[in-house]
Amino acid sequence: MAVQFNMDPKKCPMPSQDPQVRNHNFDEVALGYTKEMAVGEAKRCLNCKNKPCVNGCPVGIDIPGFISKVAAEDFEGAYQVLSASSSLPAVCGRVCPQETQCEGVCTRGIKGESVGIGRLERFVADWHRENVHTDPQTPVFNGHKVAVIGAGPSGLTCAGDLAKAGYKVTIYEALHVAGGVLMYGIPEFRLPKDIVQTEIEGLKKLGVDIETNMVMGKVLTIDELMGEYGYEAVYVASGAGLPRFMNIPGEGLKGVYSANEYLTRTNLMKAYRPDSKTPIKKSKAVAVVGGGNVAMDAARCALRLGAETVYIVYRRGMEELPARREEVEHAQEEGIVFKLLCNPVHIDGDENGNVKDITCIRMELGEPDASGRRRPVEVPGSEFTLEVDTVIMALGTSPNPLIRSTTPGLETNKHGCIVTNGDDGLTSREGVYAGGDAVTGAATVILAMGAGKHAAKAIDEYIKGKNA
Ligand SMILES: Cc1cc2nc3c(=O)[nH]c(=O)nc-3n(C[C@H](O)[C@H](O)[C@H](O)COP(=O)(O)OP(=O)(O)OC[C@H]3O[C@@H](n4cnc5c(N)ncnc54)[C@H](O)[C@@H]3O)c2cc1C
Repeated sequence: MAVQFNMDPKKCPMPSQDPQVRNHNFDEVALGYTKEMAVGEAKRCLNCKNKPCVNGCPVGIDIPGFISKVAAEDFEGAYQVLSASSSLPAVCGRVCPQETQCEGVCTRGIKGESVGIGRLERFVADWHRENVHTDPQTPVFNGHKVAVIGAGPSGLTCAGDLAKAGYKVTIYEALHVAGGVLMYGIPEFRLPKDIVQTEIEGLKKLGVDIETNMVMGKVLTIDELMGEYGYEAVYVASGAGLPRFMNIPGEGLKGVYSANEYLTRTNLMKAYRPDSKTPIKKSKAVAVVGGGNVAMDAARCALRLGAETVYIVYRRGMEELPARREEVEHAQEEGIVFKLLCNPVHIDGDENGNVKDITCIRMELGEPDASGRRRPVEVPGSEFTLEVDTVIMALGTSPNPLIRSTTPGLETNKHGCIVTNGDDGLTSREGVYAGGDAVTGAATVILAMGAGKHAAKAIDEYIKGKNA
């Protein structure tokens, strides 16, 4: 029977918690489509000939394929299409920057709003989790072992693909929980942690072993893994967890945090619960410095932890904010105050060494810099002060030096990122592959997953070639 297309130029809105309620709780903001909404939205997909969305997806999901199954109400069929390319669809449906990827090139976006691909992906993954409870078949062991360093989205994806191909895969993770930024960075109200853990359980059922509390480079080196431990290849997916600071006066005061520390205490250690053993400052007024997703997450957490005023301090304008548009809108609705075109100069403390205010200078945008974005330039004499008791620095992160300093011959660049030979992730060391933020610097979940997929394929070919 021919599909009755839905020609509504607008995508079906996502039901969500009221902003004035949600800014006091850590429950998920977006509530997800109902079955009727999902089917209606799926019928907006024209299944067009060129399928630009598939090229827009770093892991190449057959997007029209899964959406046509949603339109036909075959939700498990849709899940099978999704999971053939993505090991973490419930995660990607929630946090991928679809507006610059699949949805950014959707044909429906030319004369209206793109199809809500991310929302449909989330619906299908949630439907599967709630309705299907069969375990995947454990693949037959092919006699070869691979080690993965880091249990973030890149390491998990690589491990999942290798396990499906019959490899015995062990992931060594430094923290006490697997998931990487999905667990310690992105807050519960954007990505519930039980969803991340369910996706990880699925990988364990494929036979992937996850050893937590294993700081590689300290407990074991890559040479030991490939020597006495007998791994034929190693995939390094250790992320970029080392925070940057501004090096301005006052950054050593009590009440100045890196966003990483603040978010880890809040999300991983559940600082918002009364029974949490992790101390976190009860703030009245907070300045978050930066304009990316990390800054939005830290600001929105600070509000939920009880701050009365939370500022985002960003040196460029609204148009240049690197955070996802949806996150910026959510932050605005919840009451975050945006101080744009200004940059901190110094932080001042009281007699006990606690933050008491932050002084900023106004900026204007000059000529484009090397990144193509207009360069912010200080306006002389325009300093002003914000009274705050907490400052959170969300200025970006770099890879931790531990792996490179304990792996002789592993080439890294001036930013400390591991150098690879391109798509397949091979490093300067034979049998050692790398991908995700450890290679690119801080990027996105889906790019980290894409790197894991490519590396898994390359590792499979390398081991098969060696043993042929
Ligand atoms: C707060 C925040 C919000 C974000 N929001 C988004 C978003 O909305 N959408 C999006 O697409 N991206 C977002 N990102 C970026 C995204 O999360 C990352 O690009 C992605 O997680 C990178 O994946 P990865 O597997 O390379 O690294 P990670 O997720 O960082 O995982 C690396 C893992 O390696 C472990 N590790 C490190 N060193 C060692 C070692 N020596 N031995 C063993 N284990 C080690 C770490 O503990 C960690 O678990 C966000 C990032 C942050 C911090």
